Amino acid sequence: MFEKIALVGIGLIGSSLARVIRREGLAGHVAISTRSAATLARAEELGLGDSYTTDAKEAVRDADLVVVSVPVGSSGAVAQEIAPALKKGAILTDVGSTKASVIAQMQPHVPGGVHFIPGHPLAGTEKSGPDAGFADLFDNRWCIFTPLPDTDPDALKRLSEFWRRCGANIDTMDPQHHDMTLAIVSHLPHIIAYNIVGTADDLQSVTKSEVIKYSASGFRDFTRLAASDPTMWRDVCLHNKDAILEMLARFSEDLAFLQRAIRWGDGDKLFDLFTRTRAVRRSIIEAGQDIDVPDFGRQAVEHPSKS
Ligand code: NAP
Repeated sequence: MFEKIALVGIGLIGSSLARVIRREGLAGHVAISTRSAATLARAEELGLGDSYTTDAKEAVRDADLVVVSVPVGSSGAVAQEIAPALKKGAILTDVGSTKASVIAQMQPHVPGGVHFIPGHPLAGTEKSGPDAGFADLFDNRWCIFTPLPDTDPDALKRLSEFWRRCGANIDTMDPQHHDMTLAIVSHLPHIIAYNIVGTADDLQSVTKSEVIKYSASGFRDFTRLAASDPTMWRDVCLHNKDAILEMLARFSEDLAFLQRAIRWGDGDKLFDLFTRTRAVRRSIIEAGQDIDVPDFGRQAVEHPSKS
């Protein structure tokens, strides 16, 4: 699809892209760039691309498609660095988990004639780094674009086709709507998980052995989310602040409702809520966004970190 693709950032998302690009034959040449020599050396050992450099400018030179896959707080600095080397007519996209902030950071640096199309594949795991990626990460997952008012429709069509061939389904929305939606479906669950695991950890002098020993009763499922990359999630919290605070306020109100129902022994309220939430789980399975098999630690799943 592209003569040369440059991947700037080669962690979980960048290296998954590298693998699927190779499998599907989507580029004549894949140039890989990352900040540290250690990550670059690992990407080279894994054979993820055709050329390797810690100089992002060198990687993007002559590239038809540039995908920036770095923590959202670094996207402005990366855009500033690569801007002078971007080819006229190239498509520049990103995979960041927040969109309004990434656009505000990157857009001012994008030279005229370069098509900047912000994007976000809703696919991931709690792992990071080039070893964590796998080619079917994006299979049947959504990739959301938040095009800008002057986005070239042909460039958007081309980028959409690229992501389709990586396995993803495509949607478009405005950046604010994206950030609000992701605050509830992704950011809040992670914050809740970080919080509950932190609370348990604070109790560890009394209960550490019990927390770990009996973790399969529910706690374990939160620890998967709470093991996610600290840099990535620090940046998500700082860069989607308003939407996250809005969702946290609603969450706190609903938690107070639950607390009250428990305090006053209002079993009907609890039963109604738990019945409603069970139906949400069924809808997710029907939508193909999870599989309906018992989860005893995911040993039964083909790729352990995929589900
Ligand atoms: P990752 O595995 O931690 O990899 C991060 C990459 O960015 C590495 O190549 C790293 O380089 C580089 N990097 C880190 N800090 C940097 C900085 N200050 N300046 C320049 N480069 C830097 O991260 P990831 O999970 O692939 O996430 C990448 C992006 O995808 C993030 O914006 C995240 O929000 C988004 N995303 C993540 C997920 C997920 O579940 N993980 C899902 C969808 C979207 P070195 O290793 O060389 O330092």
